[in-house]
Amino acid sequence: MATTVTPRERKVSADEAREVAEAAREHEWTAPSFVRDLFLGRLRLDLVHPYPEQDAEEIRRAQPFLEKLERFLRERVDSDRIDREGEIPETVIQGLRDLGAFGIKIPREYGGLGLSQLSYMRAIELVSSIDGSITALLSAHQSIGVPQPLKMFGSDEQKQRYFPRLAKGAISAFALTEPGVGSDPAAMETMAVPSEDGQAWILNGEKLWCTNGTKAELMVVMARTPSKMVNGKEKRQITAFIVETAWPGVKVEHRCHFMGLKAIYNGVISFKNVRVPRENVLWGEGKGLKLALITLNTGRLTLPISSVAAGKRCLEISRRWSSERVQWGRPIGKHDAIAQKIGAMAANTFAMEAVAELCGAMADRGGYDIRLEAAIAKLYNSEAGWRIIDDTVQIRGGRGYETADSLRARGERPVAVERIMRDFRINLIFEGSSEIMHLFIAREAVDKHLQVAGDVVLPGKTLGQRLRGILAQVRGVRAARAPRPGRGARGPAPGAGRVPRDGAVRTQARVPPGRAVPAGGRRSGAVRHGGRVRAGAVAAAARSRRGPPRRGPRRSVLSPGERAGARQVPRTAPQHGRPGLSGGPGSAGRGASVAGAGDGGAGVIVIRRHDATLHEKAPQSCNVASWRRATV
Ligand SMILES: Cc1cc2nc3c(=O)[nH]c(=O)nc-3n(C[C@H](O)[C@H](O)[C@H](O)COP(=O)(O)OP(=O)(O)OC[C@H]3O[C@@H](n4cnc5c(N)ncnc54)[C@H](O)[C@@H]3O)c2cc1C
Repeated sequence: MATTVTPRERKVSADEAREVAEAAREHEWTAPSFVRDLFLGRLRLDLVHPYPEQDAEEIRRAQPFLEKLERFLRERVDSDRIDREGEIPETVIQGLRDLGAFGIKIPREYGGLGLSQLSYMRAIELVSSIDGSITALLSAHQSIGVPQPLKMFGSDEQKQRYFPRLAKGAISAFALTEPGVGSDPAAMETMAVPSEDGQAWILNGEKLWCTNGTKAELMVVMARTPSKMVNGKEKRQITAFIVETAWPGVKVEHRCHFMGLKAIYNGVISFKNVRVPRENVLWGEGKGLKLALITLNTGRLTLPISSVAAGKRCLEISRRWSSERVQWGRPIGKHDAIAQKIGAMAANTFAMEAVAELCGAMADRGGYDIRLEAAIAKLYNSEAGWRIIDDTVQIRGGRGYETADSLRARGERPVAVERIMRDFRINLIFEGSSEIMHLFIAREAVDKHLQVAGDVVLPGKTLGQRLRGILAQVRGVRAARAPRPGRGARGPAPGAGRVPRDGAVRTQARVPPGRAVPAGGRRSGAVRHGGRVRAGAVAAAARSRRGPPRRGPRRSVLSPGERAGARQVPRTAPQHGRPGLSGGPGSAGRGASVAGAGDGGAGVIVIRRHDATLHEKAPQSCNVASWRRATV
């Protein structure tokens, strides 16, 4: 076997890894974000209320497709067989092609169905309730494979060339991971260099765990291209290419097999001197990682909705079994412990659906920056979904651990809970593992603070840079204290397309550089989040966890109208009071780790705000350690 699965020597330092990740971030917040505002202490109800309902015409157009898809899945897909044999029958794949299921979001002018993100999510929900391997096939193709980045970043010529093929069912894949590259892409070894004639790139390397890779006609391949020198410093470049698997030099080395998703077409793919035409660069040289991150902002919404499907399916199984199964003289659902589990399952499934649908609706409506919303949806739904499945196995008892085939063979209903569990587990690992989602959310949530305090707190800064940073902030505070004519207190209207105002922010480093405070080591009383306290209800909930509520103006920071509005927000209601989902004052005392991904969190910053709109004049502050424990 020629696959290179031994990790290579790591040549990238922690600082370099962080720099690559930072460079790939979207630095601007050009559109409003509901969650970002929460982290900044503002409850922007106008961003979610009225609820961004799906367009009626779109629902009408999607309905026939969804009905056909549901019928097809019920009548033609045998998931136990797919799991047993590790193959999706070619007739099923062709049937999906005929339905248009490979081109759900591809514009109609190119032969796709031209449906919205929410319609796509409804299709994925149907598929996920039947078979995880088929979900992987369709979503690796449409969420991260060629169609989505092509739609967002492709040139007209690229769209003309590839969309019609993709819409007809040419399967596609996304190849980023390598033996030495998992969560951290900086150590990428797959390399593309310009050909001698300058007309193409010559691609060499190997990609691991490429879903659909063993069946794909087309792939988005991420590769290093020659570094650039910026201000005398080497800047690593990662570029995205559309690669056709029929081209000479592309080879499937190995098909990978896993705990679940037995029929996923996932493999090790090698590239040996593959000539990729210049026109096949997506978006631009050096923009590959940013492309991947932006694509994932919507691509990440597939897992949240498949988690909803798993939740609903498990609820159905659990409710049925807990009313049928009698132990100790009564149905097990009448025993309190089981009833509690079912109640929590129903509530969490409702919350998961609310989170997923709101994100999908925001993506469709446009004018939002949903990077935080999508990451939270991915994190929360996959973790909550996993707990629901675990409870379902428990409720089914020994039968929960038995395979469907075995149950069938001894004459019982073949309920495949153990398969659901095996298939689901990967959702906490791919498309951003839970740990990486925590870091991503924390990084984006404190972006404004880092913009202001970055030089003071980031590792690797010299004393001079830190001092200059402090001076810059003092100047910033003075400037911000000056009256700003014509600016409202609440930031821009929805879709206004400008960055919300954040008020004055002042930082104070309490811990000398290099002196680490253990995560969670500081008590929340020492450092608390301030900012405008409009989300007072959420803040009060957070305070009640830390001790008795204080008396004084904080309790009355919401006007009666705002308070009522907070309770009226449809669908997002389950998020209230959950510190990780609410952020801002609601996450007071929990804070966020701003330390880079791998540096162990050296340094804790305290951010003080003096904002004219604060109802309480005493400065409040924000702890920035161990936020992750508060999220789910
Ligand atoms: C079934 C399957 C399908 C896949 N499909 C694709 C695909 O289509 N395309 C593709 O490119 N890739 C794909 N992958 C790869 C997948 O995205 C990676 O497995 C994932 O990114 C994690 O990388 P890793 O497994 O190397 O884990 P590592 O990055 O090595 O991480 C190992 C553990 O350490 C944690 N960790 C890492 N860094 C940190 C940190 N800074 N702080 C805290 N914890 C950290 C991780 O969360 C994880 O728990 C697939 C993988 C599988 C198993």
